[in-house]
Amino acid sequence: MNNNLFATFAAKMQERGTANFITTPEGKTYSYAEALSTTEQIAGALKMLGVEPGDRVAVQVDKSPEAILLYLATLRVGGVYLPLNTGYTADEVGYFLGDAEPALFVCQPAAFESAKAIAAETGCPCVETLGVNADGSLMEKVGKADAYTGIEQRADDDLAAILYTSGTTGRSKGAMLTHRNLGSNCRSLAEAWRFTEKDRLIHALPIFHTHGLFVACNVILITGASLYFMSKFDVDMIIAAMPEGTTLMGVPTFYTRLLQDDRLTPELTSNMRLFTSGSAPLTAETHQKFEERTGHAILERYGMTETNMNTSNPYDGDRIAGTVGMPLPGVEIRITDPEAGDHKPLPAGEIGMLEVRGPNVFKGYWRMPEKTKAELLDDGFFITGDLALIDERGYVQIVGRDKDLVISGGFNVYPKEVEQVIDAMPEVMESAVIGVPHPDFGEGVTAVVVLLPGEKLEEVDVINALAGHLAKFKQPKRVFFVEALPRNTMGKVQKKQLRDEYKDIYQ
Ligand code: ATP
Ligand code: MG
Repeated sequence: MNNNLFATFAAKMQERGTANFITTPEGKTYSYAEALSTTEQIAGALKMLGVEPGDRVAVQVDKSPEAILLYLATLRVGGVYLPLNTGYTADEVGYFLGDAEPALFVCQPAAFESAKAIAAETGCPCVETLGVNADGSLMEKVGKADAYTGIEQRADDDLAAILYTSGTTGRSKGAMLTHRNLGSNCRSLAEAWRFTEKDRLIHALPIFHTHGLFVACNVILITGASLYFMSKFDVDMIIAAMPEGTTLMGVPTFYTRLLQDDRLTPELTSNMRLFTSGSAPLTAETHQKFEERTGHAILERYGMTETNMNTSNPYDGDRIAGTVGMPLPGVEIRITDPEAGDHKPLPAGEIGMLEVRGPNVFKGYWRMPEKTKAELLDDGFFITGDLALIDERGYVQIVGRDKDLVISGGFNVYPKEVEQVIDAMPEVMESAVIGVPHPDFGEGVTAVVVLLPGEKLEEVDVINALAGHLAKFKQPKRVFFVEALPRNTMGKVQKKQLRDEYKDIYQ
C-alpha cells in the first residue's frame, strides 16, 4: 500500500473530475481533473530536474493556483515540500537553503538572479521560477517534460514537508512533517468541521504556513470541495465572495477588519456556514461582536507548525469565546508543571505547560537533534511552549507563551490577564504586556497600548484604572502608547520586538 498522502488526494481528484477545485477572483480556474493532470506535468518536470524521493523542494513564490499544484506534484514524486515566507530577505533565504539543502529552489521570477547567487553559495543545484500568472521557467519546463503519471511509494513516517515555524520567539525552526501527520490531521478537521464536496472555502491566507497550506488546502482536497483563492486578504474581496462562499478560515485580524465594515450583516453571511479562527488568540470581544453582527459564532481552534491542529471548539455545541475547544479525535493533551519537570497532569483549572501527543505531532526539528530531544519526550508528548489550562467543561484556554510569561519580584504574571483588563477600558483598542529587565524586580511588567481613534489617555490613567482590578505585582510599572502593535503576516504580535525596544527603560 502506498501511504503517500498524494495517493489519497489523487483518488479524490479523479472522482471529482470536472468539479471545480480552485478559482481566483481574476477568473482563473482548474477543475479537479485539470489540476490532477497538471500535477502529472509538473511532476514530470521535477523528475527531469532531478528531484528524487526524499529530496527537498524549497519554494518562495507568490500565491497562485500553480503554487498549490507544485506542492501536490512534489508529494507525487516523493519530494519534501519546503515553502518559504515571501517576506524573507536574500540573507534569510540563504540560511534556509544552507540548512535544508534542497535539490531544487523555485523562486519568484524577479528574484532569479539573487536566487542563483544564493543557490551557488549554498550548493543548491537547481533554480527555477514561478510567477503569479503561471509564468516563469518552471512552467516552461513543464511544457517540455513527459508527464509523470506514477505516485512515488512513501511510508507513513516519510517526510512530506519541512515547514519553518513563524519565528515569533527566535530563529525559525524546520518542523519535519510526515505523510501520516498531514493526512491524519486533515481527515480529523474535515470531519470535525463537517466539510463536504459542496463547500467553497474563501482562502485569503498565505500558503507558506500550516494554516493556509495544510489546514485550508488539505481539508479541501480530502473532501473534494473547492477553493476560492485570493492573492491576499482584502475586505472588499472577502465581502464580494461571501454570497457564494460557505466557509472562511481566518486569523483574528481578518475578523477585526471585517467588523469595521458596515456591509458585514446577517444577510451578507447567510450562505456561509462556518468561520474559523486560529494562529493567534481571538479576543472574546471580537468573538461576541462578530456573533452580534452576523449570527455566526466563530469557531476558534489551536495548533502550531510542529503539531498541525490540536484542539477545536465544537461544530455542534457551545463555541466558547476565549477558549480553543477540546482535543481533536486521537490527540491527547496534558497540562503539566514546567518547574516540577515531572510531566504529570495538573488538576482542571490549573495553569501549566501544554503538552500534546498524537498522529499529528511532527517527527522532530530538521537537523536539530538536541532541541528535538529536549522538546519531544520519550513518551511521545511534545512540549509546545504554550501555557494553558483545561477548564471544568474540558475546554482548553491558552494563557500565553511560556517565553512571554513575566516573572516580577518572583511572582508569575500572565500577560493575557493584564491585557484583558487594559483592553476592557473604553478608550483602548488593544494592548500587549511584556516583561523587561528591572533592577529590583528582575522583570518589570510593562504595557504597550493602542488607543481607539480620537481617544486620549495618560500613563497614570491606565495605572489607576488597573489598581482596583489586579494585584499590585501584576500592575504595569510603565505604560507606553503606540499607533499599532508590531504584527507579522499571521497577525501574531511580535513581543520579542517589543521587549527589545523597551529593554532599557528601567535601567
Ligand atoms: P516560533 O515557534 O518560531 O517562535 P510561532 O510559534 O509563532 O513561532 P507557529 O507554529 O506559526 O510559529 O505558531 C504556533 C503558535 O501560535 C502556537 O504555539 C500558539 O502560541 C499560537 N496560536 C495558534 N493558534 C492559537 C490560538 N487559537 N490562540 C492562541 N494562540 C494560538
Ligand atoms: Mg512556536
